[in-house]
Amino acid sequence: MRNILFVISGPSGVGKGTMVERLSGSGELIFSVSCTTRAPRKGEQDGVHYFFISEEEFQAHIAAGDFLEYDNHFGNYYGTLRSFVEEKLKQSSVILDLDVVGALNLKRAYPEAVLVILLPPDKDALLARLEKRHSETESQMRDRLARVEYELSLQDKFDYVVVNDRVEETEQRLREIYLQEKNRV
Ligand code: 5GP
Repeated sequence: MRNILFVISGPSGVGKGTMVERLSGSGELIFSVSCTTRAPRKGEQDGVHYFFISEEEFQAHIAAGDFLEYDNHFGNYYGTLRSFVEEKLKQSSVILDLDVVGALNLKRAYPEAVLVILLPPDKDALLARLEKRHSETESQMRDRLARVEYELSLQDKFDYVVVNDRVEETEQRLREIYLQEKNRV
């Protein structure tokens, strides 16, 4: 069995975070801690949820070629550290929570990565979920919704498309995909 990069992607609000938490909870998959320039939200810990760094530090990482992929969402940078991922891959499979464009960029840098896109059962359900996130202002929310359409148009480029209807069923499906890919020779 091999260790794999297992990427969970999809539009904002589709439930990537919940799935990544569930799948990394058992310890079999290690969560790839990304760097970001956005401020921590309540309860988020540096080095656990993200490495919270300044824009200057982020630019220095870009210049040094430290990222497997990086992106800017609405003014904040997010990036996957090559060193972090490669170090963890020696011990275990690694699970990543990336936006759709970031996932496709990662595949270019690391073609063996397995990409899953999570889709909402319908767009209205996604809208409702995004509206429940009180951590965002109205204009931030509108920006995120505008991006959803574009992200959904890229779904054919993913290895697996999974509709996130019921949490338990989605988790089960993702575990099946993971095991299938891990056992692939
Ligand atoms: P949030 O600010 O809500 O934590 O994340 C915003 C978006 O950034 C989410 O879609 C999340 O999947 C994505 N994201 C988190 N880490 C990375 C990363 O390292 N690279 C890229 N491209 N996107 C990321």
